[in-house]
Amino acid sequence: MLKFPTKKLVIASHNEGKVKEIRELVLPLGFAVATARELKLPEPEETGTTFVANSQVKAKEIAAASNLPSLADDSGLVVPALNGDPGIFSARWAEVAPGKRDFDFAINKVGELLHFRNTPASMVCVLSIAWPDGTCHSFEGIIQGTLQFPPRGTKGFGYDPIFMPEGFDQTFGEMDPAFKHSISHRAQAFALFLEYLKGE
Ligand code: IMP
Repeated sequence: MLKFPTKKLVIASHNEGKVKEIRELVLPLGFAVATARELKLPEPEETGTTFVANSQVKAKEIAAASNLPSLADDSGLVVPALNGDPGIFSARWAEVAPGKRDFDFAINKVGELLHFRNTPASMVCVLSIAWPDGTCHSFEGIIQGTLQFPPRGTKGFGYDPIFMPEGFDQTFGEMDPAFKHSISHRAQAFALFLEYLKGE
């Protein structure tokens, strides 16, 4: 892995659920991992209009500020019946006060808009790796599924309690985290990232 001579990486996220999942994916590679929060770096503003753009904004900003390679995740729930919402605004739909997120609130909002009908949806994750010099590469994972009401399970984060991936009878919130990690949108993006690292 010549791309990482120092084997140090910053996870460019303040979202504890995502940081936990990314840390678990990255640690077997033998990287020393710090988070943007640990380095006291502010959460970059998401100014883009796509998952790729927002993921790159976060990765580049944290790589420049930390002078270390930075891995960012922009992800969300995409509901075709809601014209793709909440999409890139998935975290913002949970904001109940500045800086305070409540996913029971966001899940209920999605449910109300769908009249609590089980509805096709997907989860998307774009991982971007950026270097302090501004170079950046992105990797996208997507998993199809159905939204299930009422919500089930407490093992995940965010919209996990309502998202049931295709071919399974448990929501992400009910699944063993290790199993979620083996099939999720984030796992798929991460597999592409690993391929990229091996390609060096
Ligand atoms: P952002 O990428 O920081 O804008 O936030 C993405 C939001 O999408 C998160 O706050 C979660 O609510 C949601 N999300 C992303 N990935 C997952 C997942 O694996 N499970 C549940 N919700 C997710």
